[in-house]
Amino acid sequence: MLQVVLKPRKAAPFYGRHPWVLDSAIERVEGEPTDGDVVDLVSDKGKWVARGVFNSKSRIRVRLYSWDAAEQLNDAFWHARLQRAISLRDALGYVREQGAARLVFSEADGLSGLVVDRYADWLVVQVTALAMLARLERLVPMLVELVRPLGVLVRGDKGVARLEGIELPAGVAWGETHAGPVFIEEHGIRYGVDLAEGQKTGFYLDQRENRRAAATYVAGRRVLDMFCYSGAFSLSALLLGKAREVLGIDASEKAIALARANAQLNSVSGARFEAANCFEALAALRESGERFGAVILDPPKFAQSRRAADEALRAYHRLNRLAIELLDPSGVLVTCSCSGHVTREDFLYMLVGVAQKSGRDVQILEQRGASPDHPTSATCLETDYLKCFICRVV
Ligand code: SAH
Repeated sequence: MLQVVLKPRKAAPFYGRHPWVLDSAIERVEGEPTDGDVVDLVSDKGKWVARGVFNSKSRIRVRLYSWDAAEQLNDAFWHARLQRAISLRDALGYVREQGAARLVFSEADGLSGLVVDRYADWLVVQVTALAMLARLERLVPMLVELVRPLGVLVRGDKGVARLEGIELPAGVAWGETHAGPVFIEEHGIRYGVDLAEGQKTGFYLDQRENRRAAATYVAGRRVLDMFCYSGAFSLSALLLGKAREVLGIDASEKAIALARANAQLNSVSGARFEAANCFEALAALRESGERFGAVILDPPKFAQSRRAADEALRAYHRLNRLAIELLDPSGVLVTCSCSGHVTREDFLYMLVGVAQKSGRDVQILEQRGASPDHPTSATCLETDYLKCFICRVV
């Protein structure tokens, strides 16, 4: 029998259904499991706690998938989990022909280490755990059967591969290869998505509802979309929100090229995109006396670890202060953080500091998260990573 025995007094989080069993919680391993094997997690008294998959090379030694002793982690189990995940997106109305949505979001769907995004007829799979990599050949046909795509592409992440001690596959796992961008639609706006080379899996699907929400505040305004990537907040502001004009800025030349192409694809005028570093661009805009009726800040993950959270908060503070200085009276600030290590409360207090230091009244109108195809698991709050606050700055 393959068993992982917990140290005394270490079982509470796992009775509480948290899926990550760190090496530091483990007393001993019985039965010599190989990496990828199903193991039972038991307390120091030998009481069954949960069932998961073993990986000797990861600090997350066991990923837990079931708290029902009668349930085996077999094909029927994984199929049911995939189906359960996809049915949520169906119910949300997110599974439309040309649409894009996250179909599977790892821990939030009881599938720790597996992300599946759908872009029109294509699926992009991201594997972030050996447990899922070891089953990929069986999971891909299940996805094909459930979603009927034209092709399935697997993308790897080097950092994650190192943490899990795995060689990540990359490339076409099933079906046709796709050359050039895949075209999707979000809120009636069209985007070209580079599945193989684009950031994340090609598009920031998690900001979907925030783009629509932000758009409702910008009618007639001049908008600065800082960290614009392929221009989704910008185009939403113009086309959904009737903004007067938009300036989108991103450090990546590739992103700017995508944003310009997307503007053209939707025949919009009034959008300008420029490649620049955020801090330099904000300072230059201030120097030249430019002002905006709305500023959107959607920076990359500033904190890669819990230790880096304080430094990240200082960077968010600087960024938000600079942004506020560019805002007209009663301007709108849409400010985001996707650093999981920066909590909602941390982020809120960062804004408190910004309001105090800037001497402007900041009224928080909406405190938002990721769109519902990126649910938060109540027993794995690490899945609540995205903050998006919409504020009026008097
Ligand atoms: N708002 C976008 C997603 C932004 S992701 C959307 O809705 O699709 C964060 C972006 O910040 C990335 O495109 C990245 O290229 C850019 N970026 C990273 N560091 C930067 C910096 N120092 N200055 C400006 N942009 C930066």
